[in-house]
Amino acid sequence: MIYHSLKDKNLKASFSTALLSSLAPDGGLYMPDRFPEFTDEQLAYLGALPFHECAGKLARFFVDDKFSQENLDSICADAYDFELPLKTLSGEVLDPALPEPEDEYILELFHGPTLAFKDFAARFMGRATSHLLARSHETRTILVATSGDTGGAIGHAFLNQNGIRVFILFPQGGVSSVQEHQLTSMGENSNVKAIAIDGTFDDCQMLVKQAFADKDLADKHKLMSANSINVGRVIPQSFYCFWTSLQVKAAHPNRPIVYSIPSGNLGNLTGGLIARRMGAPINKFVVGNNANHPFTDYLNTGNYQPCASVPTLSNAMDIGRPNNFPRILALFNHDHEAIAQICHGVHFSDADTERHMFKIYRDHNYIMCPHTAVGHMALEDFASSTQEEYTKVTVSTAHPAKFKDDVERILQMDIPLPPSLQSYVDAPSHKLVIEPTLSALSHVLN
Ligand SMILES: *Cc1c(COP(=O)(O)O)cnc(C)c1O
Repeated sequence: MIYHSLKDKNLKASFSTALLSSLAPDGGLYMPDRFPEFTDEQLAYLGALPFHECAGKLARFFVDDKFSQENLDSICADAYDFELPLKTLSGEVLDPALPEPEDEYILELFHGPTLAFKDFAARFMGRATSHLLARSHETRTILVATSGDTGGAIGHAFLNQNGIRVFILFPQGGVSSVQEHQLTSMGENSNVKAIAIDGTFDDCQMLVKQAFADKDLADKHKLMSANSINVGRVIPQSFYCFWTSLQVKAAHPNRPIVYSIPSGNLGNLTGGLIARRMGAPINKFVVGNNANHPFTDYLNTGNYQPCASVPTLSNAMDIGRPNNFPRILALFNHDHEAIAQICHGVHFSDADTERHMFKIYRDHNYIMCPHTAVGHMALEDFASSTQEEYTKVTVSTAHPAKFKDDVERILQMDIPLPPSLQSYVDAPSHKLVIEPTLSALSHVLN
């Protein structure tokens, strides 16, 4: 696959170059030149494979000749060694071979090691990067800004990888306590360092941008981004929408399918839209935003007004200027009407989110994380706006225990930490706190 810069489509790069350099030389986001499209027969074949095998086959179309099919199969088998169940609210797992009375599922994408969907992209990206660097004997310094979940997933995926240093920038006091433990417990002398920025998530993202814009600094440290500006994050996020929608279709062949995606930087949605372009049977996407809602406003009005972010319960979606907005525009040739025909957007307050989490727990005994609750409310809004009977899928982006303090307060009960999270909380914690300035950051990088 050849990639081009969204600023200048004549600026081309291979997958390997796009992955290792993050942004095009003109500062534009990389985008694939085209997308594979599959026939119904090919879709049936891919849907019948185990997920990791399907992912390996899809990856083939997006990489270059530095990866053999064998490399991709083993990257995906190693990265995707956990479940991605489609569950009903009563907790049953969809089996496409059995008749299904239900018309609604939660796609739990939080069974990876850091318990958020970011593991899907981070683990593929980490293995693909190591594969390339091992061949070329190069090194990279990864800078990643996180509002909570990305840093944990990237840190975990790159921990102890040769030739790679990772610096995770997170807003001091802006992540949940479980998330902070996860970020700061990778070991004092490991290759992964947690840096608390005395500022907001926007400050973290701005610092990363400044570092990349500083040519000397970027060249000196061979900086690479692991945020979803990197196409290596977005491509693997198409795999799970693709494969799971084929499972849903097999169980409900005669109904249209809608996926609801609680969104911040729009990387997850971009992955879903790419899956749809490849023929995944997803008819509509619903986008849920919290109090940071430039994208759902754009869907509803055609005006795009990025703004400063405000903190909410669903902190991983506190994004005022979504990174992947230009990719979504490009997927639809900048046609607002075409985007709005496929994507239904709605936003909710924290009070709505709390009420909904409580109601779902009371009525179904199912615990949603705040992000998932936003997605689920958005899906209900969509369902009530149409006469058509859809099979409904809410993409659940994180395990509720990652937001233990808030979830316990809202549901008024104790929720146990899964063993993997408990181990982070028990491990010693190390972080540096710095001012949100490039000079402070560059000092740390040395
Ligand atoms: C990152 C994240 C999101 C938002 O995903 P985007 O790809 O940035 O839109 C939603 N929920 C959780 C739990 C996340 O970690």
